[in-house]
Amino acid sequence: MKDIDAVWQEMLSILEVEVHSLGFDVWIRPLRPLKVEDGILALCAPSDGAKAEVIARYLPLLKRAMREVEGAPAELTVISEEEAPKKVAEEKAEAPRVTHAAASQCVLNPQYNFADFVVGKCNRMAYETALAVAENPGILYNPLFIYGDVGLGKTHIMQAIGNDLRLSKPNLKMLYVSTDTFINEFIASIRTANGVNNQSFRDKYRNIDLLMIDDVQFLSKKPSTQEEIFHTFEALKSAGKQMVFASDRRPQDIPDLDSRVRSRFASSMVVDVQPPDLETRIAILQKKAQKAKKNIDFDELNFIAEHVTSNIREMEGVLTKVMFLSKLYERKVDRAICQEALKDYRVQECDEITVDEIVDCTCKYYNANKADVLGKKKNKEVVTPRQVAIYLINEFMNIPLAAIGEYFGGREHTTIMHARDKISAQIATDPKIKTAVNDIKAMILRK
Ligand code: ADP
Ligand code: MG
Repeated sequence: MKDIDAVWQEMLSILEVEVHSLGFDVWIRPLRPLKVEDGILALCAPSDGAKAEVIARYLPLLKRAMREVEGAPAELTVISEEEAPKKVAEEKAEAPRVTHAAASQCVLNPQYNFADFVVGKCNRMAYETALAVAENPGILYNPLFIYGDVGLGKTHIMQAIGNDLRLSKPNLKMLYVSTDTFINEFIASIRTANGVNNQSFRDKYRNIDLLMIDDVQFLSKKPSTQEEIFHTFEALKSAGKQMVFASDRRPQDIPDLDSRVRSRFASSMVVDVQPPDLETRIAILQKKAQKAKKNIDFDELNFIAEHVTSNIREMEGVLTKVMFLSKLYERKVDRAICQEALKDYRVQECDEITVDEIVDCTCKYYNANKADVLGKKKNKEVVTPRQVAIYLINEFMNIPLAAIGEYFGGREHTTIMHARDKISAQIATDPKIKTAVNDIKAMILRK
């Protein structure tokens, strides 16, 4: 029988054409092929809710796609990520021949490895320390605490440690959990009256060599779980076992956190991931396109990278859409396809952006006075920020040029059009303007 990942890749390329693009991105792509057993392919959905949706909407389609793949299993089932580790654990009891029992309890996304992680200035520290941890767990950077905004690769780096160690030290016992899972399992364990289960919870989290807990900001306001984490922490630390945590903010910025836990986090090796610069974004897109075996011109990748600045996950989403449209229209990726793919992305982003915010960010960048930028002055110090702000408003927001003119002290719509076109042309020729526009965009999107 064919390799499970190969089967799934082929199914994906069939489904990509059959399923409406949004449905594909939201429901199908996040599925993970878990295993094949007794001729049944188990797909794992990220949550119980996603599982229910996938079954309700796509089960027949999934099955049909599977039948089109040569050498694929005969049947298919969908389970949720919450069920997945449990299932594997149950199996272990039934089938002791499973070799790396400890490792198999730990569900990791195989795509999240070091080789596929693009390193730039924004994430070098996190990458280097994670690599050192994978080479020498429990020795150099213990614990390792990775923080940064959503979609910047924290989970990827963390799981890369696990994936790497799974190969280099297959007998190492490791566990990767989200904070939610940890909380839920802990609560379930204390519910049992005789405390037996509580012991098994402790055994599970303390008899391991590597513990990875994701999104620890969710520990906030959970005092009893924090207490448990603290004791887990102490037990593992004194046994010289490696811990890795990820969070969307620094330890000192997590509210309502037990001071002991905070100080343990804060005294970890704390590293951050920052939004990637343009070169890193292009390199990430190149890597993803290469992996998908799509040949996309540099100019188009550059165009996408210029427009999606602050979240790698969203940039991947746009690239997926681009590849989908190229397949749908049966033509090479061109500017029109990129623009179409970016349209959906912008609508999402722009829901929360206001004209004022765009002008404020632009003024801040140029250190210009807002009243002057909106007013009549014509000196260069205010004209450039004015035109850049107009360009950005036009790009970000779906409002008529006349309305933008109104906002800028009653200017004609032709004046607005001129400003927009001028900046648009300068972006192509003047690196200073290009950098300014990108930086201001990043400021706006980070708000
Ligand atoms: P976070 O946990 O910080 O929210 P993830 O680790 O889930 O972010 O990353 C979001 C997506 O972006 C993932 O698909 C991941 O593979 C991808 N990604 C993030 N950083 C990089 C990078 N430096 N190189 C390649 N892919 C990346
Ligand atoms: Mg994450």
